[in-house]
Amino acid sequence: MSYDTIIVGGGAAAYSAAIYAARYNLKTLIVEKDFGGETLLAGVIHNWPGAGKDGIDGFELMKKMKDQAESTGVEIVSGEASLVSMKKHCVKVKVGKKEFVSMTLILCVGMEHRKLGLDHEDDLKGNGVHSCATCDGPLYKGKKVAVVGGGDSAVKSANQLLDMGAAQVYMIVREDNLERAEPANLDELKARKDVTYVYENEIVELKGDKKLSGVVLRVEFEGNKDLEIDGLFVEIGSVPRDDLPKQLGVKFDERGQINVDPYTMATNVDGVFAAGDVTNGAAGFKQIVTASAQGAIAATSAYKDTKEHAGFCTLHVRSNKK
Ligand SMILES: Cc1cc2nc3c(=O)[nH]c(=O)nc-3n(C[C@H](O)[C@H](O)[C@H](O)COP(=O)(O)OP(=O)(O)OC[C@H]3O[C@@H](n4cnc5c(N)ncnc54)[C@H](O)[C@@H]3O)c2cc1C
Repeated sequence: MSYDTIIVGGGAAAYSAAIYAARYNLKTLIVEKDFGGETLLAGVIHNWPGAGKDGIDGFELMKKMKDQAESTGVEIVSGEASLVSMKKHCVKVKVGKKEFVSMTLILCVGMEHRKLGLDHEDDLKGNGVHSCATCDGPLYKGKKVAVVGGGDSAVKSANQLLDMGAAQVYMIVREDNLERAEPANLDELKARKDVTYVYENEIVELKGDKKLSGVVLRVEFEGNKDLEIDGLFVEIGSVPRDDLPKQLGVKFDERGQINVDPYTMATNVDGVFAAGDVTNGAAGFKQIVTASAQGAIAATSAYKDTKEHAGFCTLHVRSNKK
């Protein structure tokens, strides 16, 4: 099957790009591995313009975006996209056994969570070690948990865990402050009493066989390196997903983000654009609103590209979409 643009991703950048692409009458396909992307982990979003003073739940926001994209006639397939072949303005991707051809590609593949890199971390994943407070926080009602990380996601996660009924949250932070967090989220956390701040410290060992029973700290805290907890939420940042971009020959910056022209979201590969958290656009400011804006710009550039290079891709059957 042949498209004017294929959008890879199932988050804010992808849905926004799809809504714009469809309004440019581009025959558009979204390939999404998972619905909703990172926004599903974000809980209530208070900084999405128009959400009102109570904000909007991340799941609900993504559902609305996806529904809007689908209502414009965009096709969606579930699965992981990988590259089959790439010539100028003629890209073939595979999802399972199906192949799809397109004149342009918009990469909205986001980032994946960083791990602590400690022994047994993978074994304890889901058994005391987590990376999503929204998903797994309810398991820790009345229990002691720790959040490791010093950014906004860590602070938001701690607030969520307390909202969900955690009895005590330890914030384990490498730095001596949490000033990288959004001030409103940090103020909310600082106003709570069941939070213990463990600054300038790190986790060096995870304890527990089949289930996490505690962690060992690098530096003693209140006279002890052992900290007994029921659950640990790892919020130490993310790294851009690079499998498909690498297959395409896309160039990255020194932080592993896709290098884009911020005015067009074009990558170094003809006909390939990128948007959202995976890029270094918006000066690396990774939010739903910036991902959505980048998706809109990428779709506009893809539209111009298909007009300029019509006929380049002999595999491409011109769209009948009106
Ligand atoms: C805990 C937390 C709280 C946050 N809170 C806020 C907040 O309050 N406000 C805010 O604005 N932002 C917040 N963010 C950031 C926000 O979620 C991200 O900026 C946003 O999700 C980026 O969207 P994206 O589309 O670029 O990437 P993502 O949302 O990560 O989506 C990437 C998508 O690509 C898919 N994918 C990857 N590879 C492939 C492939 N090969 N084939 C097919 N699909 C693929 C994935 O399955 C996923 O669906 C928060 C993030 C976290 C983790």
